[in-house]
Amino acid sequence: MNKTITTTCPYCGVGCGISAEVNEAHRSVNISGDITHPANFGRLCSKGSALGETLTLTGRLLEPSINGQQTSWDIALKKVANTFLEMINRYGQNSVAIYGSGQLLTEDYYVANKLMKGFIGNANIDTNSRLCMSSSVAGHKRAFGSDTVPCCYADFENADLFILIGSNAAWCHPVSYQRIRAAKENNPRCKVVVIDPRRTSTCDIADLHLPLASGTDAILWNGLLHYLSCYQLNSKDSGQHSVLNIDYIEQYTEGFAEALAAASADSHDIEQIAYQCQLSVEAIRCFYQWFAETEKVMSLYSQGINQSASGTDKVNAIINCHLATGRLGQPGMGPFSLTGQPNAMGGREVGGLAHQLAAHMDFTNPADVDRVARFWQTNTIAQQGGLSAIELFEAIASGKVKAVWIMGSNPVVSLPDADRVKQALQQCEFVVVSDCIAQTDTTALAHVLLPAQGWSEKDGTVTNSERRISRQRALFKSAGNAKPDWWIISQVAQRMGYESAFSYQSAVDIFREHASLSGFENDVEHGIRDFDISLFANITEKEYQQLKPVQWPVNPSYPAGKERFFDNQMFFTPSGKAQFIAITPRLPVNSPNNEYPLVLNTGRLRDQWHTMTRTALASKLNAHRPEPWLEVHPEDVENYRLQDQGLAVIVSNWGSMHARVHSTETQKKGHVFIPMHWTEQYASKGRMGALVNPVVDPVSKQPECKHTPVLIKSYLAQWYGFILCRFELDQTKLSDYWVKNRGQHFYRYELAGGTLPEDWQAWIKTHLVETPNAQWQEYKDGSTGTYRAALFIDNRVIAIVCIASTINLPERQWLSSLLAKDNLSKSERLTLLSGKPAADQDDTGKLICSCFNIGEKTIKAAISGKGLKSYQEVGQCLKAGTNCGSCVPEIKALFKNRF
Ligand code: SF4
Repeated sequence: MNKTITTTCPYCGVGCGISAEVNEAHRSVNISGDITHPANFGRLCSKGSALGETLTLTGRLLEPSINGQQTSWDIALKKVANTFLEMINRYGQNSVAIYGSGQLLTEDYYVANKLMKGFIGNANIDTNSRLCMSSSVAGHKRAFGSDTVPCCYADFENADLFILIGSNAAWCHPVSYQRIRAAKENNPRCKVVVIDPRRTSTCDIADLHLPLASGTDAILWNGLLHYLSCYQLNSKDSGQHSVLNIDYIEQYTEGFAEALAAASADSHDIEQIAYQCQLSVEAIRCFYQWFAETEKVMSLYSQGINQSASGTDKVNAIINCHLATGRLGQPGMGPFSLTGQPNAMGGREVGGLAHQLAAHMDFTNPADVDRVARFWQTNTIAQQGGLSAIELFEAIASGKVKAVWIMGSNPVVSLPDADRVKQALQQCEFVVVSDCIAQTDTTALAHVLLPAQGWSEKDGTVTNSERRISRQRALFKSAGNAKPDWWIISQVAQRMGYESAFSYQSAVDIFREHASLSGFENDVEHGIRDFDISLFANITEKEYQQLKPVQWPVNPSYPAGKERFFDNQMFFTPSGKAQFIAITPRLPVNSPNNEYPLVLNTGRLRDQWHTMTRTALASKLNAHRPEPWLEVHPEDVENYRLQDQGLAVIVSNWGSMHARVHSTETQKKGHVFIPMHWTEQYASKGRMGALVNPVVDPVSKQPECKHTPVLIKSYLAQWYGFILCRFELDQTKLSDYWVKNRGQHFYRYELAGGTLPEDWQAWIKTHLVETPNAQWQEYKDGSTGTYRAALFIDNRVIAIVCIASTINLPERQWLSSLLAKDNLSKSERLTLLSGKPAADQDDTGKLICSCFNIGEKTIKAAISGKGLKSYQEVGQCLKAGTNCGSCVPEIKALFKNRF
């Protein structure tokens, strides 16, 4: 019997509510958006909608193992506990570390932090959230005295100006983006400015796009602060007056004069700013004027700001402009950091970064250290912050850290200088990985593997970008022998001798303790902290099960939570006043040079999440961008002798990778873009982390993932090809370049090779195990290097192979669709090796709408055949773009580039 469970999406920081109709017997689930959840009101993006496709047990890590040998939980846990103790005894407490993840639930995170900081006694616990938003944390703390996000999603409906900075929200926070789109459509006054070197899909709703030079954001925002200081508003009531909110500045802030002096030092001349940012004077003036004249302005920023060696300064340069105008804490205004991961915020609440203590307390305050120690009843609490992510893997590489436990993360792919991270783990004495996926680039290097529950099994809480705590609920029993992360950590802690402090029986035990700590000595006498959910300190099991999404704080003053902070102008600094930070803009540390003349920018794709461990299981998510992808401006394609849709080698000072070239004017000249997702499980050389510069921001320690000098050159192959096959092949033996992609009824392998096999048929037969009664159909043209073959059993095609000496190969979409059929028509069989469908055969073309599986050719045919005039009409006719809306910019582009 089916039952419906409400839970939360495990992907991005929007934190959408999900309604899951669960069939336990078949371990299947129908996913829809939870119409009651305030983050999404029923909407989901393509990734969230496809969650039901990712629940397969194939590829799951189901049993603990030591050095590749399956073992019992008890033996594995003892091994971890004993080895950690042994390392600590032999090399000191700083020789062990944990690397966690924004995928962990708050309860998991809490226990991991407590173990490391409270009992092992060092703070070497950092997470992949360091790569995501630590500059925001640092910027908030400098300005507000606390890591407080002032805004909420409800502000979207109240804003008259949205500024999206370094954020491709259309792809990375699609549900929030659609909400902004709707807010704009419903508000004739509303304008959108996008500040991003790339013209991304987010620009689809932009009234103004500022494609600034990479790394120059602080110059632009300093310039705005100076502009605001000079700008005179004309108002009917009060005549001409400054746009600065002088009362607000004087009463509620400190440091304005210094910040303005720094901003004015070299940012007073718009011509100069335009030159430095590579923007037009008119565009900058327009942006500044809109900001000056619009009271309800929201500045939404993401990794384009955070992932920078001066990310914290950029965050504060933005906040400075809001403080100067007093645009903070009221509906429809404020600086708003869009967090990348589902529980980056929950991690922040429990002190998930190495320099933080739990419950928004800090190592820099000895009273906080003492308070947490008393609460946890420990006398071994760490006294100072530990190693941040980049420092941690450096310490592993240099042998200072001897044992590391990696939880739910894939740093061999995602960290900058990823080849060095891989090397560091290869030589590390003891690597533990707890994960729900068996084969990742990181699990491959583990001595001990611990099977953790996956999304549909986990039970706990997460916090989204607007401070909203939501329940993530289990839909199924654990797969195999998988366990909750909090249980695994607690069991290790108990075996290390900390039985009573880690005797939790359930997630709610931990949540109660976490809530209790948030309210512990959180008062006027000891100092008020922003994070306070003390009203949950005695929450019952039943209440926890029924917990509705709520924005913290949740305490006696705000029993139902609170939408926005700083409406009372009370900040968490010693003086209670917000702090302006004087910013002297710094350009990126490594500039392009003769050897590496281009700037590499990295980011997310619409339909993939992180290192593809889950999204690559959903065939419909793989079709949108099936290969590692290099976006290059057409002039750079020419300058570097690349070919559109050909292959490229990208080289930096730190490593190299291969990717498919996509020539596009959305990319700035001199800048290239590569998505972050591919791993060694899916591509021969597609790890973009191998290229990335490990330079970090000195304050936040966040790496500069958006600016690495690179060289690009053509990947010279003797042959190119692809195989579509109903069963999985050993792709590592196929060719030098390979990319694996899972379709609905088949696997797709994109290939390129440096040496030509003597006999293609013999080559194919070594890789495809022939089944009895199979027949081959072949076509060869030695003069053009063309070889095509199809393997049939009766009228069912099992595999299709296409090889050529150039990149001109048949389109994959139609051929793939033949693998879904059990009986090909005569005409399909006849035309198959030509690679082109006959006129009477369906060919949907490249996938555009993942939600309804609608391809480019279908949309184009409807546009011309039915005379459709807008993306809305396409939606009415085909449904394309009507669910998550993420493909709307691509549908609109089809109208622009009329075919
Ligand atoms: Fe999940 Fe998409 Fe919502 Fe993000 S926007 S939480 S990925 S459904």
